[in-house]
Amino acid sequence: MDALDARYPFFAAAREAVADAAVSLPELVAADAPAVERGRERVERALMDGTVESESGEFSGESAYDVQAELLSYPIARILVSLLDSEPAIEKYAAAEAATAIDRIREDLATDDELRSVSTPTVALDDVLAEFDLVDAVRPESPRPASGAGSGRAPAHYWIDVGPYLRLTSPSWGPSWRLVNRALADGAVRVSREELLDALEAAVEERVREGLPFELAVGEGIAAELEEGVADLKRLLSERSYAGPVDVVAPELFPPCMTNLIEKADRDADLSPPESFALMAFLVGIGMTPDEVVTFCADTSLDAEGIRYQTEYLKDDRGTQYPPPTCETLANYGICHNEEDHMQVAADPLAYYEKRVAAAEEITDWRDREGDEDEKGDGAEETADAGGRE
Ligand code: SF4
Repeated sequence: MDALDARYPFFAAAREAVADAAVSLPELVAADAPAVERGRERVERALMDGTVESESGEFSGESAYDVQAELLSYPIARILVSLLDSEPAIEKYAAAEAATAIDRIREDLATDDELRSVSTPTVALDDVLAEFDLVDAVRPESPRPASGAGSGRAPAHYWIDVGPYLRLTSPSWGPSWRLVNRALADGAVRVSREELLDALEAAVEERVREGLPFELAVGEGIAAELEEGVADLKRLLSERSYAGPVDVVAPELFPPCMTNLIEKADRDADLSPPESFALMAFLVGIGMTPDEVVTFCADTSLDAEGIRYQTEYLKDDRGTQYPPPTCETLANYGICHNEEDHMQVAADPLAYYEKRVAAAEEITDWRDREGDEDEKGDGAEETADAGGRE
């Protein structure tokens, strides 16, 4: 097993490395090996922050965990998330693994070929395409020259066969992802390099999601050994869940990160998957129902079908909501610009909003403003017809 296996534990080579190492997971768990704590951290960070990166530092072979602990924490995390017995937890875990992986892939691709070294192994785009059996399905628009000037520059666009395109992307990501709005030629769809990475993120998520949840007899064997860790995670989820601590919709009090995302969608610009997840998690977190979110986002680039899909899965069958990503995670995605240093005030957008709501003297809930023609101002007729925000 090597650092690359640890960075990409869902790759086939990593799975083989685990099998070849003939490590017994029950024995590791019984011995409370570092991989167990890291596996627990992996799930906790996925559910709370939307990333599986360790708080002790990004894994690069020099984090608090060695290669073996990092790699083996992945199968342990899969067992833990299975034991949580919650479909939304599995969805969120898989999404967080994929988001972390694509960040690492992006970093690797930014590493110039000449700078690649054995001590810091990286993947190339062809490796990732091969991993997901996409080598023949994805072609660069302008193949790189074999050598000479410009050989180090990556193509800006690719063509991906329609079948994989439809499997790995969703119209719910925004109108520009709909096939009718795409350049199509010879059974292939044109995508930018960034869009190709979005599709690969979906491929990683699909891979991680495969086979979950494991069927484990609760209270027996490894499940019994992990009982305490699972109880901790469940407690954390219920403590950190936002089952409506604020149930008031006051757009003028939204934190800047959310206002910026809404304004971007208002301009009909597509939101990236992390942007749209952050916004949906926030709107659900402040107590909006899927129908209300659809109405609120009418006339934006977000479509009703995608909103419903995302908002439904942000609630589990007990009605508990999963919190939106923290300010730190949103800053990593470039969504937060820490306006006026208000990261000092709260750790996540919901907490910030709660403080502003608590400090406000008078609030008229947006839900009660509907139909108030005076408040709608210019363009009221059009907005009222759509049922959206003023
Ligand atoms: S500090 Fe937090 S609440 Fe404020 S803009 Fe950034 S992510 Fe949003």
